[in-house]
Amino acid sequence: MSNSTGTYLVTGGAGYVGGVVAARLLAAGHAVTVLDDLSTGFREGVPAGAEFIEGRVQDAAKWLDRSFDAVLHFAAFSQVGESVADPEKYWRNNVGGSVELLRAMRQAGVRTLVFSSTAAVYGEPAVTPITEDAPTAPTNPYGASKLAVDHMIAGECAAHGLAAVSLRYFNVAGAHGAQGERHDPETHLIPLVLRTALGERAHLSVFGEDYPTPDGTCVRDYIHVDDLADAHLLALGAAAAGEHLVCNLGNGNGFSVREVIGTAREVTGRPIPEVVAERRAGDPAVLVASAERARQRLGWQPTRPALADIIADAWTFARRQHRSEGSTTP
Ligand code: UDP
Repeated sequence: MSNSTGTYLVTGGAGYVGGVVAARLLAAGHAVTVLDDLSTGFREGVPAGAEFIEGRVQDAAKWLDRSFDAVLHFAAFSQVGESVADPEKYWRNNVGGSVELLRAMRQAGVRTLVFSSTAAVYGEPAVTPITEDAPTAPTNPYGASKLAVDHMIAGECAAHGLAAVSLRYFNVAGAHGAQGERHDPETHLIPLVLRTALGERAHLSVFGEDYPTPDGTCVRDYIHVDDLADAHLLALGAAAAGEHLVCNLGNGNGFSVREVIGTAREVTGRPIPEVVAERRAGDPAVLVASAERARQRLGWQPTRPALADIIADAWTFARRQHRSEGSTTP
């Protein structure tokens, strides 16, 4: 990214990843406007110094104008299980919102986009680690909705010269200071493991132990949210008119659900009871990234790849959250 400062619209900047990227843009001296309808984000998640608009991506045309150098698009529903139960919600919001955003950008003359895509577009991969050339065959409507947006962006680049980078996240975790992962209801593994360590939950349900993996539980590639945020800042500089660049973002290391629980026990020094539960619909057995292209094209280099470091930062955040919610247990 060049040293000059820019003006950016961050959709979904009241959420976890969007909020951290917005904070990092501000820290780098840029001007940031967050557009978020607070359907899943939190007002406190919008970093100090950002202008905040409470509104829907579908209505982005109301606020977008030429003063913005680029849009970073995070606003989306992102829960696999919910998407299986209520697919229309995902098509309507994730796809419908992006259609309107792309049109608003074209009409306003804003021609650079960084999009929050996902490893879920690959479905059950035939080869691991997954490269961007792997076939896309999502196993759930969440992944399908993100893939549809990736296709939509590719068309916009080809037809209208948009400069776009889609970053396909593997499992984002950790925290950036006081900004951490918080969903309501929480469904993600690391926050749930840590809530169990804090005694907020009696046990962690392990969703299936009969997968074709070494210990039978699902394997994922966990990436620190700060490393992920770095890639967004680099992507702004790498975006080129008429090109849709797609980059995976992960550490290339897979950890099973049981390995995550084991590492969390070491980091927290607390017992974390687990019970085996049914498989969760739509979960692929193994998702591990090849991030070679991100290294080459973005010059990206993860700085916090160790699972214990990622969990330690998430633990600091979880304890802070626990205290702020007024709990008396430590
Ligand atoms: N998982 C689990 N118990 C939970 C939550 C998640 O066993 O309470 C598993 C889930 O089935 C998946 C992995 O942990 O294999 C990571 O799930 P998460 O929802 O954090 O991320 P995803 O891989 O769905 O993006």
